[in-house]
Amino acid sequence: MKPVRPARGAAQAPEGPSDLVSPAVLLNPSFLRLIDGLQEAVWLVCARTHAVVAVNAASQALLGLDARDLVGSQIESLAATPEDALFWMDAAIGRREPLHTDTMMRHADGRMLWVSRRISHVPQPEGHGLWLVAMRDQTQQRHHDEERETLLAELRATLESTADGILVTDLAGRIRSFNQRLASLWGIPEDLLNERNDDAVQAWMRRSVVDGQGYAMRLTAIQESPLLHTSDNIKLIDGRVMERVSLPQWSRGRPIGRVYSFRDLSEKLAARQRIEELSHNDMLTSLPNRRALLERVDYAQAMARREASPFALLNVDLDRFKQINDTLGHSYGDRVIKEVAVRLKESLREVDTVARLDGDEFALLIHQADARGAEHAARRVQEAMSRPFSFDTLSFTVTCSIGIALFPGDGASADDLLASAERAMHWVKESGRSAFRFHQPRKDVDLLSRMRLDHAMRRALQEGEFRLHFQPQIAVDSGALIGAEALIRWRDPHRGDVPPSEFIPVAEESGFIIAIGQWVLQQAVAQAADWLKKGLRVPVAVNVSALQFQQPQFVDTVAQTLRAAQLPPDLLELELTESVLLRDADEALHRMQALSELGLQLAIDDFGTGYSSLGYLKRFPIQRLKVDRSFVKGLPGDASDEGIVNAIVQMGRALKLQVIAEGVETEDQLAFLARCGCQEYQGFLCAPALDPRSFEHRFKPADAIGTPPAAHASAKPVPVSAAEPVAGPSKPTVRLVRGA
Ligand code: C2E
Ligand code: CA
Ligand code: CA
Repeated sequence: MKPVRPARGAAQAPEGPSDLVSPAVLLNPSFLRLIDGLQEAVWLVCARTHAVVAVNAASQALLGLDARDLVGSQIESLAATPEDALFWMDAAIGRREPLHTDTMMRHADGRMLWVSRRISHVPQPEGHGLWLVAMRDQTQQRHHDEERETLLAELRATLESTADGILVTDLAGRIRSFNQRLASLWGIPEDLLNERNDDAVQAWMRRSVVDGQGYAMRLTAIQESPLLHTSDNIKLIDGRVMERVSLPQWSRGRPIGRVYSFRDLSEKLAARQRIEELSHNDMLTSLPNRRALLERVDYAQAMARREASPFALLNVDLDRFKQINDTLGHSYGDRVIKEVAVRLKESLREVDTVARLDGDEFALLIHQADARGAEHAARRVQEAMSRPFSFDTLSFTVTCSIGIALFPGDGASADDLLASAERAMHWVKESGRSAFRFHQPRKDVDLLSRMRLDHAMRRALQEGEFRLHFQPQIAVDSGALIGAEALIRWRDPHRGDVPPSEFIPVAEESGFIIAIGQWVLQQAVAQAADWLKKGLRVPVAVNVSALQFQQPQFVDTVAQTLRAAQLPPDLLELELTESVLLRDADEALHRMQALSELGLQLAIDDFGTGYSSLGYLKRFPIQRLKVDRSFVKGLPGDASDEGIVNAIVQMGRALKLQVIAEGVETEDQLAFLARCGCQEYQGFLCAPALDPRSFEHRFKPADAIGTPPAAHASAKPVPVSAAEPVAGPSKPTVRLVRGA
């Protein structure tokens, strides 16, 4: 105790003022020393007078009050809370129960202190005894608690506000904390969590995932490595995907547990999938797009290499789709595109791919297909497209041009293959659309030499280097001249004779064929008119390229050319190829009718190599079929050629069409043709294409149609020019007239 008053009070009680020295004077000095040594602040209060009789050193420190201010004070004035008042009132009437509470006291500097206070009665050998008031400062502690509570509240708020489900466990995996989101993410019943029924919670989570066993094993592994940072995706039975991230929880440098956070990835994954889909699929048709197609082609190439199985890539482009778009509007066009997509899909197998590359351009990937398989697919596509399209009250047809590339052969990469197919498709477009064509690697004539050839042709036309030769067409039975096919000839000053098979395709590709065709038509008509003047009435047949035929002004041009030369229209025949009929059938029909009305003749050239069916032919105003010379070649003897030629002749008869055989080189061929009823022929057996002068020389006016051939001297074979080698045996004399 302080050496001042209390001590003095205690030791020298008899000497102090009597009012301050109540029972305290009786205090045992050793008792006083004892309390002075305590860390707690201690006051001794006289139980009778409630006056403070002694204080220890710690109490001075607690309240910042001197012992002198305290000793002698009434306890009620020092501790004045209602609780204190009540206690001391009770004490005054003799209650002796202790009090142990937290209360607040004012420090001498005005601060409020949180104090944990114990008041207990200390009986004395005499009198009422003493009250011992022991106080401990809790202010610091209280501040810490408050701070911690605030922190915890903040933490909890943070925990609850995160979109992730959080679970905190100790090192043994026991649940220490969690947020509501965890419960809702996993659908864990609240009570399981609130009860802290760890096993039940863990079992619940395990049961919710697809691979419960794997989940449990992983969890054990995580728990066994307290320092591990983990991140897993967990598949739930309800289809969702949960991302689980876990981190060790540290305290004082040691892991004390683990914090798991769970996040529902389903939406994110769905969004990603959608993005993936969008980047791989065409919005309008939902078909794979170019990118997806190229990936599949890459894959197909890998497969094809491994399994040595070929595949085909078809490029399909709608013909004149722009017209539909322009006249009927884009939304109508979109409907057509969608319908086309459906038809394309229907015409292929499940395993094959239909992709939309762009606008009206599609691509088909046909697995395990060689040239035959590809052709088959192309046909099926054409067939699927040939059905009329009907939307609202409108009905129309849509045709397409198809380019085919084969793997292996037409490209080493997916891009190359697609480019090959596209190129082939463009050839189809240029040569009149609505057909299919295989990509042809042009090793012989590369692009540069094609360009040079094209250039040379243009110059040749200007310089008048083209000539027309005429190949006689002969009646099988009478040997009479029934016509002449105009065939173009070109002798280039540098190249020498260039065969039409070389430059016509180049002209078709570049479009120059239109100018050439124009010139041929005009020349041939002029020649026929000239012959007619000379008394030689020979119908001339002119080859017409598909591209030329498709020119909008073609019919007018023909009419005008006939008028200008004053040639009777029946002396002109136009040779068209089957592909002209197959593409834009309605348009072709329309145009052929117009030509027919002009009074000229129409023939189908190279018949048998295309795909026209009998029913198809009936629709068109045709007068003549020309049996392709590839079928004549095998006559007689080749059963297949014999069959085909026979069939064509029969078909012609049924349709009341003239049938003329091309490329007849031998007597045997002619004899076969005669047997099966073919009425007409042309070929080296009679003559190659002759220049007009040779032709006139050979065929005198009397040989022309309507006039029976006199002695058929004119039908003697003439020497064949160097430019036109005879492929077959040539006989010195030809008997053209049966029963003459
Ligand atoms: P094409 O219309 O089938 O013409 C018949 C071709 O067969 C001609 O070849 C002709 O010389 C040839 N030929 C005739 N008789 C025989 C024979 O007995 N045996 C053999 N092996 N061949 C015979 P050319 O003149 O080389 O013409 C080739 C092709 O070029 C023609 O085939 C035609 O498609 C095209 N062509 C020729 N002239 C023109 C033309 O003025 N305009 C167009 N658009 N194409 C033409
Ligand atoms: Ca021809
Ligand atoms: Ca022909």
